[in-house]
Amino acid sequence: MSTQTTEQRVQSARLFERAQKVLVGGVNSPVRAFKAVGGQPVFVDRAEGPYVHDVDGNRYVDLVGSWGPAIVGHAHPAVVEAVQQAAARGLSFGACCAAEAELAELIVDAVPGVDMVRLVSSGTEATMSALRLARACTGRDKVLKFLGCYHGHVDALLVAAGSGAATFGQPDSAGVPKVFAESTVLAPYNDLSAVEDIMASHGSSIAAIIVEPIAGNMGYVTPSDGFLEGLRRVCDKHGAFLIFDEVMTGFRVAWGGYRNLCNVQPDLTCWGKVIGGGMPVAAYGGSRETMSQLSPLGPTYQAGTLSGNPVGMASGLVTLGICKSDGFYDALGAKAAKLAGGLSTAAREAGVPLRTGSTGGMFGMAFSESPVRNFDDAQRCDHARFARFFTAMLNRGVWLPPSGYEAMFVSAAHNDETLDHVVGAACESFRSVAS
Ligand SMILES: *Cc1c(COP(=O)(O)O)cnc(C)c1O
Repeated sequence: MSTQTTEQRVQSARLFERAQKVLVGGVNSPVRAFKAVGGQPVFVDRAEGPYVHDVDGNRYVDLVGSWGPAIVGHAHPAVVEAVQQAAARGLSFGACCAAEAELAELIVDAVPGVDMVRLVSSGTEATMSALRLARACTGRDKVLKFLGCYHGHVDALLVAAGSGAATFGQPDSAGVPKVFAESTVLAPYNDLSAVEDIMASHGSSIAAIIVEPIAGNMGYVTPSDGFLEGLRRVCDKHGAFLIFDEVMTGFRVAWGGYRNLCNVQPDLTCWGKVIGGGMPVAAYGGSRETMSQLSPLGPTYQAGTLSGNPVGMASGLVTLGICKSDGFYDALGAKAAKLAGGLSTAAREAGVPLRTGSTGGMFGMAFSESPVRNFDDAQRCDHARFARFFTAMLNRGVWLPPSGYEAMFVSAAHNDETLDHVVGAACESFRSVAS
């Protein structure tokens, strides 16, 4: 397999130098920096189907998918056409349009227990607003979140540091007011007894437990048997809301989201990423009673100039329309499973300990001997090896997330040829990082 070198990313290097002068770290989202893997960010010229093309003319099989949204493949002709048509009729009205109700109907139809949604423009906005609504409905201030779960850069949710059960949060970011961090209680993922203990002592002040039903921001960590069911039980016992943050998993692991793969009914759910198909669209929703507490029906305020804008709606509607077609998630799931299996075999042959797994169009890999069940386990993975693997794969035309703490995604546009390319590149790359 031919490999690329940094000399073949000359234009990226130039653009990065320019960007660093006026953009903080040269990026607009820290995850795009290559801090965790070394090297410099690769600048994208265009993306098409399963591929990303950089500004130097190199092509990569994309396993990031814009961090999730690109579920039907990049620049899908039907999505592009719908966006172009919508754009020609006006980019934003700041007023009601038909497509908003259409997208809301699709979500409400897809997810049991959700009667109404509010459309917003980012996952962060969705979780922030869902938390506000939970606080409004319960009259309580605190929130319980799990170590290693990411819910966007909301002040009270930007807390993940510390270890052990019942750690009162230390801010993970500078600038988060201490009082906000203190309103966040942390528990280890998949540790129901820790949650039960916390709730036994703080339950009456906790508005909500927020959880990624599959954790995708500390690698790929699935819920243990009974974990989500247990959270539901504990929330019911203490009168707290259960919030599913399905910004990543929603319409990604199954039609609707992980809600439809488990038997647990959250009080509020957040979506993002896939539901906009690449445009800034997100949502949160729940029962009619809960959502009616939101302005203009109720006392909880939340608003957005660009919320429900017609271009985002067009992109989301066509993307979800494709996702809804018969067999879509079976085919997508088979691809992710094939890739996870292929990576596993390649690693074993190279003598590299690797854990893989997949659900629907989401999959993960961890350089670990033992299963990864929580943030502690995720931190113990061999991240230095991941960094070397990342570079080896990049040089063989595979676009991975630049951190070992991320999940990965396939799209409907990934075919056998692209998957075989990834596995072939992985065989060589595992060998190169084996020692
Ligand atoms: C990406 C993500 C968010 C934040 O969404 P943004 O659109 O980046 O604000 C929140 N929660 C989860 C689980 C995510 O993966």
